Amino acid sequence: MATNRGAGDPLEAFKRAGTVLAVCAHPDDESCGLGAVLALAVSLGKHVSLLTCTHGEAGITPTWRGSREELAATREGELGRAAEILGVHRRITLEYPDGLLSETDPEALDRECLHMHGWQPDVVLAYDPLGVTCHPDHVAVGESVMRVWGRTPNPPALLFWTIPDHVAAVMQDALAECYAGRPATELIPVDVGPFRERQRWAVAAHASQSCDLSPQFALRLELCGPFDYLTSPQLWGSSPHGDPSSSEARLNPSNSIKEAT
Ligand SMILES: [Zn+2]
Repeated sequence: MATNRGAGDPLEAFKRAGTVLAVCAHPDDESCGLGAVLALAVSLGKHVSLLTCTHGEAGITPTWRGSREELAATREGELGRAAEILGVHRRITLEYPDGLLSETDPEALDRECLHMHGWQPDVVLAYDPLGVTCHPDHVAVGESVMRVWGRTPNPPALLFWTIPDHVAAVMQDALAECYAGRPATELIPVDVGPFRERQRWAVAAHASQSCDLSPQFALRLELCGPFDYLTSPQLWGSSPHGDPSSSEARLNPSNSIKEAT
């Protein structure tokens, strides 16, 4: 298997990676957000692992009639089915409290992320530390991944799933919810068109959340078409909030992932 570590071009590292570790805050993030990219990675023959930090017990919808504990168990089952649909090879769910990751001891969270580096991924993939939906759990996990990456000798390549800033602006206006995106100079477009259907199946597996019917998911896919977007600290310097002027190792955003090699 390829062992391209994180010092070079993260796009090349993704293409050549033998192993990918996805780190998510909640059950359904791996499908609603990363789903198409993970299905692409599996189709390219990569071994994909998934770390989910919570059981999603705070995701109580108006139609849920059980307890938080019952919802956690239900969502674990949904996560298992979604991961199977996406082709994820190995996964683990941690016991952190849903909705409170930003109040969790960051050192403890970092240790968990660092421990998973024992799986020796060539690439780590997570939500943009900006949070995408501005959920504080997404921000906490993204920042933890950043910290661990920054401290790890010879770290794996690090890629974050994100959305363009113009997509975030349209969604924010249309849905009156917070979205955080990045400018084109910080984006790596990925053609995931052939994997949208599989992503929809995985999203639909999260029946307790009805994400597949959500206006948020539909609008994002309408705005992004066949593309998902990744970003890398090498595109915006060391700050998770981005500083294009500090980026010395700027990648070529037009060099998108399209080929199956
Ligand atoms: Zn989430």
